[in-house]
Amino acid sequence: MYSEVISGMTLGIGGMFVRVETDISPGLPMLSMVGYLASSVKEAGERVRTAVKNSGFILPASRITVNLSPADIRKDGAIFDLPIAVAILASMQLIHQEKLKDTLILGELGLSGDVKAVDGVLPVVHYAQKNGIRRVILPLDNMDEAGFVDDIEIIGVKWLGDLVGFLEKGEKDNIRYIKTSPYRRKEIFDEREGAAGIEEDMSDICGQESMKRGVMIAAAGFHNILMSGAAGSGKSMIAGRIPGIMPGLTYEECLELTKIYSISGLLRDKDGLIRKRPFRSPHHTATEIALIGGGVVPRPGEVSLADCGILFLDELPEYKKKVIECLRQPMEDRKILISRHHAAYEFPADFMLVAAMNPCPCGHYPDRRLCRCTDREINAYRNKISYPIMDRIDIRLEVKPVEYKDISKTSKGMTSAEMRDKVESARERQLYRYREDSFLFNSRLPQNRLEEFIKLTGEGERLLRNEFEKKKISARGYFRIKKLARTIADINDREDIQAEDVFEAMFFRNISDKGEENDG
Ligand SMILES: [Zn+2]
Repeated sequence: MYSEVISGMTLGIGGMFVRVETDISPGLPMLSMVGYLASSVKEAGERVRTAVKNSGFILPASRITVNLSPADIRKDGAIFDLPIAVAILASMQLIHQEKLKDTLILGELGLSGDVKAVDGVLPVVHYAQKNGIRRVILPLDNMDEAGFVDDIEIIGVKWLGDLVGFLEKGEKDNIRYIKTSPYRRKEIFDEREGAAGIEEDMSDICGQESMKRGVMIAAAGFHNILMSGAAGSGKSMIAGRIPGIMPGLTYEECLELTKIYSISGLLRDKDGLIRKRPFRSPHHTATEIALIGGGVVPRPGEVSLADCGILFLDELPEYKKKVIECLRQPMEDRKILISRHHAAYEFPADFMLVAAMNPCPCGHYPDRRLCRCTDREINAYRNKISYPIMDRIDIRLEVKPVEYKDISKTSKGMTSAEMRDKVESARERQLYRYREDSFLFNSRLPQNRLEEFIKLTGEGERLLRNEFEKKKISARGYFRIKKLARTIADINDREDIQAEDVFEAMFFRNISDKGEENDG
């Protein structure tokens, strides 16, 4: 007999339906599976057969055919085990087909008939809810993440046998049931503040006030930042503390981020939600694929795992030039697009780049007592960061070594909490300013909308025009300074941008007297 179960899979960070069809017909006893399957799915046959048997059901001595459609998209993973088992049981008339109406099923099966958690549940459930599914059946351990989707019934199961009892007789042993709602979701979402945890504090760092102000401005407007300075000046310490001063996630950001982590299998011990902006620091030996994502069935890379948060590259010139260059495209488009046979996979990659570098290969320049690097070595080192990458970095800080008076100072400067307050209020201004638009931060303002949102007063405009003509700032540099000045005015809690904001923006953009080099 023929039966059909709706399941689903991820496609990029989106979802899609997969129909699981089974048919039992007379013939040699065998289980055959078709539908463009990766070997991980082909193995499902054996798992399902054993799990069904160990759940107390006897498979008929007939030919069982399982088809997963659509046939042109490659299917991967163990997510289809449970729907395949349910479809077979329906073909055996142990489950009535009408009990499966408008219901999506997914989950992996263990040999004993236990239902195991799978990756990528949130994107699939979110997609299913938007496309008419009223009820999902999934592993108990995936309930938390699925619970973030509004207006859907979620049935969490631990054993295949219990699921059959539930569907046919309404038995609730080992079954968890919730009906989600926007109200419930808001409650879960609002809990996130408390779960953020305690981190190292900005006030632990002696001195370096200008560097701290730079990172605060960067965090407020999501501006890329490069810190250059001698070894031991505290660059990595500051970078590691940036997540603690970043503004909270909006619901949409939280949903997007949680989907990425769900697909990547990094959600398991995170109670179903990513509540904090991520901080990713891939090692300088990282490959292009590790950084931007890829694979036969594409997976997100570090740039996507850093979405809505920070991608920290320490010792930037140590990374392969090719690897640094592959950041150009996501820095511009804020997403990664990977094409595969019959499908295009899109992953968000809207990260804030925080990079650190030494001033020279040995790290001591300009202290010539310690640094013996030649000018040529120093230039070659710095030139590893190409102009197009450099141009996309709004804040370039030169970090001075810590001075004795700073170490011995008893006053500690701003704490992370104080900085975060300023960042949050600058964030509020931006959320209000861009309330009609899809972007959230000043740095994300498209160039063609700049005049609409950023107006300089007479003196600020004059100052910037002067610099523009005198120092040959690139057109892109000019726009970037304006956006940075907008964030600085936001941090200073005012709507009009004043000359001092423009001046500070130029200081942080760190334009040398030689001006900016030409496009390379
Ligand atoms: Zn040196």
